[in-house]
Formats: sequence, C-alpha cells, structure tokens
Amino acid sequence: MDRRKILLLIFDGLGDRPIPELARQTPLQTARKEHLDWFAANGVNGLMDPIAPGVKPGSDTSHLALFGYDSRAVYTGRGPFEAAGVGIPVRRGDIAFRGNLATVDSKMRVTDRRAGRIKDGTHDLAAALDGLQLDGGVRVLFRAGTEHRAALVLRGAGLSPHVTDSDPHEEGAVVASVAATESNGGATAHAVNAFTRECFRILKDHPVNMERAKAGLPPANMVLLRGAGIVPDLEPIGERFHLKAAGIAGVGLIKGMCRAVGMDVLEVAGATGGLDTDMVAKANAALEALKTYDLVAVNVKAPDVCGHDGLANEKVRTIERIDAMMATLKIGLGPEVVLAATADHSTPVMLKDHSADPVPVLIFGEGVRVDDVQKFDEISAAKGGLGRIRGLDLLPILLDLSGRSEKFGA
Ligand code: ZN
Ligand code: ZN
Repeated sequence: MDRRKILLLIFDGLGDRPIPELARQTPLQTARKEHLDWFAANGVNGLMDPIAPGVKPGSDTSHLALFGYDSRAVYTGRGPFEAAGVGIPVRRGDIAFRGNLATVDSKMRVTDRRAGRIKDGTHDLAAALDGLQLDGGVRVLFRAGTEHRAALVLRGAGLSPHVTDSDPHEEGAVVASVAATESNGGATAHAVNAFTRECFRILKDHPVNMERAKAGLPPANMVLLRGAGIVPDLEPIGERFHLKAAGIAGVGLIKGMCRAVGMDVLEVAGATGGLDTDMVAKANAALEALKTYDLVAVNVKAPDVCGHDGLANEKVRTIERIDAMMATLKIGLGPEVVLAATADHSTPVMLKDHSADPVPVLIFGEGVRVDDVQKFDEISAAKGGLGRIRGLDLLPILLDLSGRSEKFGA
C-alpha cells in the first residue's frame, strides 16, 4: 500500500463526566454532531488513556504522548514549551516558566489570576519587562502569549529549574515567595523574587493599565509564574518517525509542543485558542497542509476552556462548532488521508480541571476495520474495536494504518 497522510485532531479537554444540568449526560452525548458521529460510524472507535489509567494528564505531557514521546521519560516541565510557543529562542541552560498576567492589590493579594482574561495591550506590557537585567547577571526574556498567558526565560550562570511557583494558584492569596526545592535552586529563586518586585513596580503605572483603569477593567500588574523547566532534548519527529510534520494550534503552549518536537507551526488567521476560534479555518488550513506534509496535528483548545470555566452548555455549543469543522473535513478529505479524532484529556465541567477519565478516540480511513459504534462520545466509544489504548499507542497505530510502520522481526 502507498504511504498515506495522517490528520490528527486533538480536541483539548473534550472528555467529560455525566452532568446533572445535562440530564446526567456528557456534553458529547448531548451535542448535535452528525458529522462527528458520521466519522465514528464509518471508523473504528475506542477509549484512550492519554498517559496511563488513573494518571491525570496535563496538555503538555499528553501531547508529547500523542506525538509519540514517552513523556514520563522526557518531560522537564511546561515552561520551556510555553516559551517556545511564544517565540522565545530558548537555549540550553535557560530556565523557562509559564506565566499569567494577573491582578494584585497593594498587599500583593491576587484578585484576578487572569487580569480579566486581558486581550489587548499584552505585548506592550511584555515589552516593558523583556530585556530586564536582574541581580547576579540574570537576563529576562519575556513574551506575551494568547490572552493572559505569557512566558518567562531566565538566562544566566548557575540557574536551575528546582524552584517553587510564584503563582499561589488561587485568588485571595498573596503572590508566593519563590524558594529552592533543591540546593542548587537558590540563585533562581532569588532572581524570580526580584522579577516579581520589578513586575509590580513597572506594570502598576504602565499606560496600558492606566487605560484599563479608565475602562473599569482590572489592571495586569503582576506576572504569576509556574512550571519551571529546562528544554528537554527531544529527537525531532521527522527523524524519529520519518514524517514531515506540521502543527496547527491557537495557544502558545501547544505551538511550543509542536516546535519542540520539530513540527512546522502553521499560523491560521482566526485560530485564537479561545471560544471565538475559527475552527473551519483550521480545517481548511489542515486540508491545505496535507498536500505537503505527512502528518498534520490540529489542536482545538475551546472544549478545555469550557471545562475549566464550568460551562456545560457552552461546551455543548463548542462541540457543535467542532461538528462544522468535521463537515468541512468530510467534504475535503481524500482517500490518501487517515484521520484520528480524540482529546488530550478530559476536563469535566463539574471538576473545572483535568481528570484521568479516558477519552474517546476514533480513526477513519481506507482499510480501517469499521466497528458497530454509531456515535462519538465517551460511552459509545467504550464498545469500539480499538478497545482501550494509551496515548503513546496512537501514533504507531496511525503509522501502521497509513502504510508507514516498519516490521518488527523478520
Ligand atoms: Zn489539554
Ligand atoms: Zn486544561
């Protein structure tokens, strides 16, 4: 069989649990999604544990697994991926953090962890912090991502990722003083705490925040940091699986995941990573990319946002918009493409956080053993022909179905 192409659709946080508001059904069971169901009915289905049963995945560890990397062996923290995603050229020895633009009061109490989900002016705020020199010869590289998201890289001698977060992870708490978690973390902790002080000093009177005050919006006068890490040494996906691969994503973290494994990141106008993202534009970009790439991975962040915000009906509507994306793909996909649709983890609306619940996965394409499953949801998928797989199994299965696997043995 000729080598075929692979389209990997990752609907972030799509999996869910029964919700009282939805008559104890999941958003996937509730949503009207005839095209997604068409792919399920004409494909093979199953459940997938992104990392392993009972392990609650982050988006980063799960995407690594879906891209064919054993995240438990290679993962060094989320910060480096976030930094790569917003375009910071991270170097070996740099320490990268994930950040949130946030609102604090004069006592450093966090009143809004996302500064009102700030959208405008974030790059101006970031520019005011980028290039700062801290005590001990530590240089700050800082960029804004989507909405309130940002990334920080500290560059200098003697730095280590073994420090706590400055993010207290809850509103009402004060910005945490960063401490070393291992003996070599002292210089980094010192630098991060200096950065926190500089942040408030520089941002509190920044013109962007003056404008926000006039408009009655919370100021973005702090950066909360978490997930320190060094960029892991990952074998590029092109060498590992002999694939020319591209990624399409709205949010910085996922773009960074794609870049970190050696995928080209394709920019799509209207792909925001938020609820307003243009999913049909992503589908069209994927169809175009499949003409030149062997593997195209697409992340749609919106279901995860609904899960974290506890919005059951919004998650249902998001799935219905995903269905419009599937309609576009149904028309545009040729027989040379094997399609997989799944999630990187569940983000149950009732939990407002990720859970270890396995996610539905479907594979559609020429040669796939079509099972009896008629609908794409967590309950139907459990009866499918794929059974229950792990995230790390998915790409090898897709490589085989696309005629790209190598024989194990003679
Ligand atoms: Zn995720
Ligand atoms: Zn999430």
